[in-house]
Amino acid sequence: MTTQTSSTLTAELREAALAALRRIGADVPSVELVEAGSGVSTGSTSEGIDVVSPLSGEPLLRLPEAGAADVDAAVTAAAEAFRTWRSVPGPVRGGVVRRLGELLTEHKADLAELVTLEAGKITSEALGEVQEMIDVCDYAVGLSRSLGGRTMPSERPGHRLMEQWHPLGVVGVVSAFNFPVAVWSWNTAVALVCGDTVVWKPSEKTPLSALASNALLRRALAEAGFPEAVSQVVLGAREAGEALVADRRVALLSATGSERMGRQVAPVVAGRGGRYLLELGGNNAAVVTPSADLDLAVRGIVFAAAGTAGQRCTSLRRLVVHSSVVDDLVGRLERAYAGLPVGDPRADGTLVGPLTDAAARDRMLAALQEARADGGTVVVGGAAVDVDGAPGAAYVSPALVRMPAQTDVVRRETFAPILYVLTYDTLEEAIALHNDVPQGLSSAIFTLDVREAETFLSEAGSDCGIVNVNIGTSGAEIGGAFGGEKSTGGGRESGSDSWKQYMRRVTNTVNYSTELPLAQGVNFG
Ligand code: NAD
Repeated sequence: MTTQTSSTLTAELREAALAALRRIGADVPSVELVEAGSGVSTGSTSEGIDVVSPLSGEPLLRLPEAGAADVDAAVTAAAEAFRTWRSVPGPVRGGVVRRLGELLTEHKADLAELVTLEAGKITSEALGEVQEMIDVCDYAVGLSRSLGGRTMPSERPGHRLMEQWHPLGVVGVVSAFNFPVAVWSWNTAVALVCGDTVVWKPSEKTPLSALASNALLRRALAEAGFPEAVSQVVLGAREAGEALVADRRVALLSATGSERMGRQVAPVVAGRGGRYLLELGGNNAAVVTPSADLDLAVRGIVFAAAGTAGQRCTSLRRLVVHSSVVDDLVGRLERAYAGLPVGDPRADGTLVGPLTDAAARDRMLAALQEARADGGTVVVGGAAVDVDGAPGAAYVSPALVRMPAQTDVVRRETFAPILYVLTYDTLEEAIALHNDVPQGLSSAIFTLDVREAETFLSEAGSDCGIVNVNIGTSGAEIGGAFGGEKSTGGGRESGSDSWKQYMRRVTNTVNYSTELPLAQGVNFG
């Protein structure tokens, strides 16, 4: 590998980003080139949004930031487009989503490259994220011909009781940096076939991936002769998100991010009588029982805990291990962790890319300090890692930490690769430890004992929205409903019947008789 200076790396990343955007045909609004090596930026500045790549920790480009008036204009355009889009037949709307899936397939590598440059994902995971977009497009195309309401028996003769599902309106999407494009597609592919229009406020850390995704959808819309305003993007940080959240014309606000963000958003949307769908933080655990296949468990645990550098909402953060197997398991994990290649996420063989920024690394190191103060032992990892030519980047080695108890630091989500190990003696104790956190997103049990597995899956088991057996907590498929309970927010998106949140249900009673019987046998004159 050649030795690079940070400036040459930043110049190379900028060129790669601009080339990918050109191949995709994305129109990037008045890009101002920031001088390489001009310092580390956190994203939003008074002059606009600095696109900072976690690969260098330096700004690549500066983009204009949407103000309240821009958000207002985007919602106005989306509301106007809704008046046309809502009456387009569902299967025709599905045709646009099918075309989006084709364009994503054609530009899979280009979009994945932007995801790597902005979110720091290794190439294989970035490609996987784009594949997830393609998968949800397939799913939504099928949905476009199968969305349906029920007919229920009426208690009155000559009456029909039925429900219809109508398009809802403008859907606002606020998304997090760590799934910069997939979360938009889960919402948008489904919203579009449901007849809604979308205004997206992506993470301020990943605006280029957002512009690229939106460009592909707008191309699909234009080719089919529909208004491009069906899909809008507003670039900005929290303030732009707040303007979208507060807008009464946004019928559904789907927000993905931290628990803090959810606590701010929910009362605002509820206060204006809107609907919200929240996908917030997780503090996911796996229980490992005495009968577990430890070879399989180690593979599942390492991917779930160290993959995406621990920056998935479903990342595995806690292990609850039976005391009879804990030493064996920790030994195996220690060896696996020691061999994890940390480095440039574009390089073959790298499994752990950078954290999003230096603040994330500092939070990880502070959490490890707190864990040590609570009596924890860092078994392996947990250090900052220098990567050649990228002094501003925040690389770390994933940490495995044995804890004597589930203390406050273990009960919090630290968005970094820290895996805390706790021990248990009875399954009841394991489930109690498992559920004793504020969050309720994803969970797993590794066991070959059907009683243990079914107990964990039962109403008396895990309290999460996702409960797995013999696989890790991360890497969900789009066919199921995705989301979690408690402070994770309660929302469900993607598969199953999540589409219902993007539509309004109408109950109809039709009287085709010559009588007018009242329900519940009421007589009125
Ligand atoms: P974040 O909360 O800092 O930001 C998320 C988004 O919300 C960004 O677009 C941000 O600009 C916006 N935002 C922040 N405050 C806002 C406000 N008051 N009003 C409107 N918008 C606001 O989160 P992040 O650091 O980008 O992402 C990491 C977090 O997201 C983690 O907690 C992770 O678990 C969570 N996450 C959850 C899911 C899920 O599906 N449950 C998926 C991905 C990420």
